[in-house]
Amino acid sequence: MKKIQMVDLKSQYDQIKDTVNISIQEVLDTTSYINGPQVHLFQKNLENYLGAKHVIPCANGTDALQIAMMGLDLKPGDEVITADFTFAATVEVIALLQLTPVLVDVDPDTFNISIEAVRKAITPKTKAIVPVHLFGQVADMEAIMTLAQEHNLYVIEDNAQAIGADYKYADGSKKKAGVMGHVASTSFFPSKNLGCYGDGGAIFTNDDELAHKLRGIVNHGMYVRYHHDVVGVNSRLDSIQAAVLNVKLPNLDTYNVARQTAAEKYSAAFAGHANIITPIVKGERNSHVFHQYTLRIINADRDGLMQYLLDKSIPCAIYYPIALHSQKAYADTRYNEADFPVTNQLVKEVISLPMHTELDDEQIKFITDSVLEFLS
Ligand SMILES: *Cc1c(COP(=O)(O)O)cnc(C)c1O
Repeated sequence: MKKIQMVDLKSQYDQIKDTVNISIQEVLDTTSYINGPQVHLFQKNLENYLGAKHVIPCANGTDALQIAMMGLDLKPGDEVITADFTFAATVEVIALLQLTPVLVDVDPDTFNISIEAVRKAITPKTKAIVPVHLFGQVADMEAIMTLAQEHNLYVIEDNAQAIGADYKYADGSKKKAGVMGHVASTSFFPSKNLGCYGDGGAIFTNDDELAHKLRGIVNHGMYVRYHHDVVGVNSRLDSIQAAVLNVKLPNLDTYNVARQTAAEKYSAAFAGHANIITPIVKGERNSHVFHQYTLRIINADRDGLMQYLLDKSIPCAIYYPIALHSQKAYADTRYNEADFPVTNQLVKEVISLPMHTELDDEQIKFITDSVLEFLS
């Protein structure tokens, strides 16, 4: 059996090696390392794929979130509501911009931000909501946008984990994750569904004025060379990464299907087990692109299972082991433990199994057999 990895980037590279190498070689030969034609081409390719009016490439997904928030006229002390159960980048940039993060509980089925919890957290100071499409499933965007409209709030989608996922509105129309809010961010970190070979990220928006502003912010606040109109940052997607992404983007749907197929096989093997809750896909609204395949282990020893799998050289991980409201950096006396029943439970129950585009049946069977052996 091929060695099992949490993410098998090498086997994926081997399949596209020739094309990727040529694409990278072109950048080297033309020495247009920064803002080369590959970056512009990738921007256009991604706009077409997503149906987004504007894509603004940048250096990584954390920058993308920060720049998106800088583009909206948020002021220190403005409250920004986001999920308690996510990667820290989401709350980090809110705090860095001296906005006030307001963490709220998540939905036990999808692990995405709870609409009821958001509703309860809205105050006159609330200016924005940041839903995170966690593990590859889109948050309930129609409900979020309705709530945001009622209270005049911005919605910033953190789409680092769900690029390529679809969301269906009640009227049957469909949109891609990342083009439903006012602005969205994504990451091309190597292990993401669309990963480059280093760091990369992008911001999407359909708003012309905001897009113009964001293009300046990513480039030191310049709209005309050496005229700095707003305080900006330096955040660029380099041409080599864009060259890789131009080869990988046409494969994104195939990559996501490979993830979905692996997830179906996992879930079939675990179906009906008393100690396992497999991922719940709200299929009538969502496609799930399985950035992670995450189980809840109930009334059983989750940490023991993790050790058992690691001892058999099956990589696995806990995303995320600590609720953000319990992290030293983000603790706040305003928080009340009773407001986070779901997140406090999930951090004790979740375990993510290997998930990538190259998992084969033999590997999946070995993984599922091992999980079931431990829980028998
Ligand atoms: C990966 C990730 C980010 C940050 O992306 P980087 O490119 O690593 O900066 C932000 N939010 C979420 C939910 C992520 O998974």
